[in-house]
Amino acid sequence: MSDVRLEGIGKAFGTVQALAPTDLSIRQGEFLTLLGPSGSGKTTLLNICAGYVAPSAGRLFVGGRDVTALPPRQRNMGMVFQNYALFPHMSVADNVAYGLKVRKLPRNEIARRCAEALHMTRLEGLGGRAIRELSGGQQQRVALARAMVIQPDILLMDEPLGALDRQLRKEVQLEIRRLHAARPRTTIYVTHDQEEALVMSDRIAVMRAGRIVQIGTGAELYERPVDTFVARFLGESNLLAGRVETVADGRATLAVPGFAAPLAGRAAAGLRSGQPGCALLRPEAVCAQPGGAPARIAERVYLGELSAVRLVFGSGQELWSRRLAGEWSGRDAVEVGWDASSISILPDASNES
Ligand code: ADP
Ligand code: MG
Repeated sequence: MSDVRLEGIGKAFGTVQALAPTDLSIRQGEFLTLLGPSGSGKTTLLNICAGYVAPSAGRLFVGGRDVTALPPRQRNMGMVFQNYALFPHMSVADNVAYGLKVRKLPRNEIARRCAEALHMTRLEGLGGRAIRELSGGQQQRVALARAMVIQPDILLMDEPLGALDRQLRKEVQLEIRRLHAARPRTTIYVTHDQEEALVMSDRIAVMRAGRIVQIGTGAELYERPVDTFVARFLGESNLLAGRVETVADGRATLAVPGFAAPLAGRAAAGLRSGQPGCALLRPEAVCAQPGGAPARIAERVYLGELSAVRLVFGSGQELWSRRLAGEWSGRDAVEVGWDASSISILPDASNES
């Protein structure tokens, strides 16, 4: 196990800046997820760590050692790909043993480690099976066993669950989490699925257009996104464009078409009267409040224990609310409010490339 450090690592493919010069430190044993839309540079960053792609700039350190110029074989990293990349003509056991045979380990050591890896990934008894006789989830576990059996310093996974259906994905997510908890191994995990990132990670790095725009725990990113891009990418959000008014005594209001949203606490800090602002209001904070702003429920979405409603104000301004199912049942004409400290003003990232 090792820590990983990127110093100014960047990559251009011709004129395409796939990864802007990036600094990143990953603690020993940490589970770090790269989260971002397609094309944001996640795979490029991972492949640079693995040694499959040479960076155009910067240095990569593992456990304090500069590995920038080392070929993949000499980095002792395990890689799991989205499409499994298993050898279809080999048995499960031969797939798992492959990396150890290449490393010319003694035969009894190979057998011992393979048995352990199959046990960890709950594949005991399937060693003799052909790959094509396995389900998608089982194949992905073989890929995981094959990456872990070499006891890598670093585990790299690129959208490993992308091909699985939702139920299987959840099962394998928990499996990977359990394996990491039992034996924390420095892990860089790539996904574009925010829920997956929240379930699995110690920290999440949100990527956009070849840059890490924010890095932190799931709670930090959800509660204090640096801009509207991160707010949109993690969880559901209402984003209200308006103008700041009446700043005084640590309080202010944001005037949006149809109503004035009170701001307090952190949300009101450092605001100037008249400045444009984009407010983030999570749907779970929008509640029924007698005497609040009048609105009409235009849409109801059943979510089991919760229900989501689309609220439309007289001005046409819309807000989503997501609350326990009972809160919005009954009438469509409602009065709406929220706690002033649950709203925050963010830089608007929607016009950046
Ligand atoms: P992600 O994994 O987040 O979807 P990638 O790292 O694969 O993103 O790609 C980042 C950007 O770099 C994209 O614009 C992509 O088209 C480009 N890119 C990636 N690999 C290559 C390559 N081998 N040649 C040219 N452009 C590439
Ligand atoms: Mg990718």
